[in-house]
Amino acid sequence: MGELYVVATPIGNLGDITLRALEILKGVDVVAAEDTRTSAGLLRHFGISTRLVSLHQHNERQKSEAIVTLLREGKKVAIVTDAGTPGISDPGDILVERVREAGFRVVPVPGACAAIAALSVSGLAGNGFLFKGFLPAKSSQRKRELEALKEISFSLVFYEAPHRVMEFARDLTEVFGESRRVFFAREITKLHEEIHRCMAGESIPWLESRQRGEYVIVAEGAQLEPPSGISEEAKRILGILLRHMPVSQAAKAAAEISGEKRGELYDFALKSTNRL
Ligand code: SAM
Repeated sequence: MGELYVVATPIGNLGDITLRALEILKGVDVVAAEDTRTSAGLLRHFGISTRLVSLHQHNERQKSEAIVTLLREGKKVAIVTDAGTPGISDPGDILVERVREAGFRVVPVPGACAAIAALSVSGLAGNGFLFKGFLPAKSSQRKRELEALKEISFSLVFYEAPHRVMEFARDLTEVFGESRRVFFAREITKLHEEIHRCMAGESIPWLESRQRGEYVIVAEGAQLEPPSGISEEAKRILGILLRHMPVSQAAKAAAEISGEKRGELYDFALKSTNRL
């Protein structure tokens, strides 16, 4: 039975390839690669001589048909990209979809992924995250997308090309505000690996001397609930009252019951109800 293996490859340090990935790349009949020259180098390094075929962004649909034909012949095929995990801001989705549709098994062979590596050292992953990958190259479109993401409370994970990272940081600061915490992971697992955490407003001076190399940017999620001076008991009372009456009445009644300030309870109630 034909099978498709989706194989992660290193994002810098070749030592990050897994034993299972090597075994599979050696054992399959064909490796579909985003750039056959890059992957030939990787395979050569590990003494693997499996046949490579090209499958990239511009020919994925057509090559997927050819791969399904190979699977029908009982062949085993692996897909790799230049670095990291296929399908993650990389080709892979169309092939995987087509192969599954044709009734063949699709097997994940996990390993390096720049987004996950960056998140793992960001300290910003615990409350959940949203992987966005690349934003549009044009500033006006990028800002529009950032606007749409601005209020999300999960950490946001972006990929960006080195020559656009300054522009990206400028737009991010403009839209998210200077005090949003941002985390830059540059050249992960490579010689010049650097990890930097700062406020968005402080990122430009740091980036100025670092406009080369690959970047993952993690922006902290929006802090939707600024610390309020309202006690938990008052919030609880307000929460109950809000289910039965309008905001202004609920705030007034909660203030009478709890002895806390009506104005603060009113503002808090508005924010809570907006979020619902
Ligand atoms: N599929 C890959 C993965 O699993 O991470 C991502 C491919 S995407 C075309 C390439 C982008 O990933 C780069 O522009 C950069 O944002 C990020 N990236 C890849 N390798 C990286 C590294 N070693 N350090 C930092 N970012 C990296």
